[in-house]
Amino acid sequence: MFSKILIANRGEIALRVIRACRELGILTVAVHSTADADAMHVRMADESICIGPPSGTLSYLNVPNIISACEITGAEAVHPGYGFLSENANFVQVLEDHDIKFIGPTAEHIRIMGDKITAKDTMKKLGVPCVPGSDGGVPTIEEAFKVSDEMGFPVIVKATAGGGGRGMKLAKTRDDLKDAFFGARAESKAAFGNDEVYIEKYLTLPRHIEVQVFGDGKGRAVHLGERDCSLQRRHQKVFEEAPGPGIDPETRERIGKLCADAVAGINYAGAGTIEFLFERGEFFFIEMNTRLQVEHPVTEAIFGVDLVKQQIRVAAGEEMTFRQENLSIKGHAIEVRINAERLPDFTPCPGKITTFHAPGGLGVRMDSALYDGYTIPPYYDSLIAKLIVTGTTRQATLARLRRALGELIVDGVDTTLPLFDRLLDEPDIQSGDYDIHWLEKWLEAQAAE
Ligand code: ADP
Repeated sequence: MFSKILIANRGEIALRVIRACRELGILTVAVHSTADADAMHVRMADESICIGPPSGTLSYLNVPNIISACEITGAEAVHPGYGFLSENANFVQVLEDHDIKFIGPTAEHIRIMGDKITAKDTMKKLGVPCVPGSDGGVPTIEEAFKVSDEMGFPVIVKATAGGGGRGMKLAKTRDDLKDAFFGARAESKAAFGNDEVYIEKYLTLPRHIEVQVFGDGKGRAVHLGERDCSLQRRHQKVFEEAPGPGIDPETRERIGKLCADAVAGINYAGAGTIEFLFERGEFFFIEMNTRLQVEHPVTEAIFGVDLVKQQIRVAAGEEMTFRQENLSIKGHAIEVRINAERLPDFTPCPGKITTFHAPGGLGVRMDSALYDGYTIPPYYDSLIAKLIVTGTTRQATLARLRRALGELIVDGVDTTLPLFDRLLDEPDIQSGDYDIHWLEKWLEAQAAE
């Protein structure tokens, strides 16, 4: 086992990893920008080291400085969290060249899944059903028309390098295609330096269902059921739950086994998420994330497992202790993402927290790096807290969520908290009857009132 791990991240996910390390008796190194010198992850780690100025590009994405931090502190492994360098194959390669272990899959697997066209192609070959669409990249507008006319509108133009909802444009009708095609290309070129796009049939009523998988890197893999992350704003998840309200045990077993077999087939190591759109009882693969997800706690809650500890174990060359036959679901879990943003426009709202009070009690987990007097810097993601509640049934979990939200206090900055009370009043949320377009439509209706 490792004796010291460096966490190449910040905020709640850095704390999440530090907690797992501490329980495993592993020392931790926090890295931070000059803007994060007072951050909770710096306070909680055994050691900390400054890796650059506020800008993420110059600090949390600064590979030479992170490698130097490992060498100075003697860290043997790096946990990347999510975002930043978590899906950067070059970073994994550089770590390897320095004999430092990356806690995650191989550079090759990150590369394959990071390119959405290659990912789709790989999954298709492994027997995973995909969204109907172009066969690979679509280099010209003429080809875009040809493919879309054959498939029928609406279609969605997607960047192969896309992520975080960027490089994706909808063409409702033939008239929209030119703008969507060139728009997606330009956005992707600017964000990712790559303008290759492909085209998919745009599904009109799907749910976003993702399957948690975990592999030992030696041809064995398990699945840990699904999460429903359909409640999204601008393709960003807001509210996630497990198990999925519309998924029965047979369906879960069928898609779960398909996913576990697929990742076993490529000797995948560690945690991964295979994302699908689910419509009329059918699954359509959209992408695979080769890292820990923001919403992993809902899976941990219903399976009673610690995904981060298992990631560390597998990276250290120990056996994966997960066995499919021992993994069973108990109860229901919901996560809400609380952002420092001003409603109704969701404008980022950094600033000083005057009071922070976390809810407690049975079935409540709060993953947050906030504390009284903390100043949220303006340079990073606006996620400030994840509230995860668990209950015996979905109804009990919704009631617990309402109770926990009532206890939570975040004063000093505007947050998205008020949104969740209102959402809980909605019959569709109470009954679990929502698709990926539900939240945007609801927000529009609220704005019009
Ligand atoms: P990203 O990597 O940017 O997050 P994804 O491919 O995971 O992009 O898609 C993000 C979201 O966009 C999905 O959860 C879904 O809401 C929407 N989406 C993607 N592809 C389609 C499609 N073919 N039809 C309808 N919605 C889609």
